[in-house]
Amino acid sequence: MPEPVIGLEIHLAIRVDTKMFCGCAAESFGSEPNVHTCPVCLGLPGSLPVTNREAIEKAVLFSLALHCRVPELTQFHRKHYFYPDAPKNYQISQYDRPVGEHGWVELDGGRRIGITRCHVEEDAGRLAHPPYADHSLVDFNRAGAPLIEMVTEPDLRTPEEARAFLAQVQAVARALGVSDASPEQGKMRADVNVSLRNPDGSLGTKVEVKNLNSFKSVAAAIAFEVRRQGALLEDGREVAQETRGWNEGGQRTYLLRSKEESADYRYMPDPDLPPLTLEPAWLDDLRARMPELPAARRERYLALGLKPADAEALALDLEAAAFFDAATEAYAGSAQTVANWLTGDIAGLLNAGGRSLAEAPLRPEGLAAMLRLLDDGTISGKIAKEILPEVLEGEGPEALVARKGLTQITDEGALAELVERVMQANPAVVASARENPKAINALLGKVMQESRGTARPDAVRRLLQDRLATPGSD
Ligand SMILES: [Zn+2]
Repeated sequence: MPEPVIGLEIHLAIRVDTKMFCGCAAESFGSEPNVHTCPVCLGLPGSLPVTNREAIEKAVLFSLALHCRVPELTQFHRKHYFYPDAPKNYQISQYDRPVGEHGWVELDGGRRIGITRCHVEEDAGRLAHPPYADHSLVDFNRAGAPLIEMVTEPDLRTPEEARAFLAQVQAVARALGVSDASPEQGKMRADVNVSLRNPDGSLGTKVEVKNLNSFKSVAAAIAFEVRRQGALLEDGREVAQETRGWNEGGQRTYLLRSKEESADYRYMPDPDLPPLTLEPAWLDDLRARMPELPAARRERYLALGLKPADAEALALDLEAAAFFDAATEAYAGSAQTVANWLTGDIAGLLNAGGRSLAEAPLRPEGLAAMLRLLDDGTISGKIAKEILPEVLEGEGPEALVARKGLTQITDEGALAELVERVMQANPAVVASARENPKAINALLGKVMQESRGTARPDAVRRLLQDRLATPGSD
């Protein structure tokens, strides 16, 4: 099987209030069509674009976080093409002076994936094709919204690696506040390039799959292309250079267009937008404001003693990481214990309810308080799991345990009394436990039931064994 060679092109919607070159709202998810438009983003004659400083700042911050070289001068070009969703018949993009070049992202296993470039551009509008209509509709709400386009080197080798890479990029964008990077809202979209390496080691013919809107589709499209191209080559046929689409229902790629020649976009510097000088002092300031990134967070969690899988999962989830940090600090106990509850029972309950951690009323202090009750023996692990759904709804664990009388019985006298009572009430079970030591579990179960789980099973077992070993005492 020839080695797959995979590259990605990722579009991220930059999280800013206004569009790239005008004052219209950049966020239009869920809005009526064509309400966020003006002469600039509709490309009307005589209108002049003004660069959104915050969008540039975020794109530069992102480039720095991906270890890109950021130039002293960055510039916008016009990329000419005709398409009904592009009102100006050109797109303002970047050409030979992007905001970042030659960066890298390190995957969990330590392998570095090269970033060719990051550039800023404006988004296009959106076409709608009503069924059975003789016309199409266009919505310009998204036209002119700022995007970062990020292109990787063809360094990825498997669908799983591509998926892990996307998760890293998403986590970095979110940690920086550069983008919501949510594929389900179209704020993170990817195109993939897939080829199979020739027997002599050179790169094979590249096929591009456009517009993948989930990490799962990216992985599935790559896997499909590797199989499709492999089968062609095995048949002695050639892989054609083409652009393909992804059919989600059929889980397969399909031909969009064959590439005769690369398109000539007639790039020219945008005469309305002067080049931007990126002052070294400003770049230093951005570097100083860089928050903790997922890779550094993962290292910090490993140093706390977390299992690698937990460290990785928490490092990639900004919300869970913030909760974990606060809970670990409030608890002052084992960090792995906090991680176990977060990734285990709490995640299970949240998944079942279709909620995220931020949507649940539970605060880090609440989890820490429950863990302390567990540590000092006030409650058992079983009781902790039992009260967790209410703790998740924001109930204070101490008050909850007190109100429900769930404090673990630690007093030996009270426990002995309870054991005595259960034995008196179940003479037949006691008799059979004397015959057969294994039947002690039936008695243990009855005591635990009677105590509503507040007795310590090991202490009860010891008491029962002592009492059963004393003949005639009942
Ligand atoms: Zn506008």
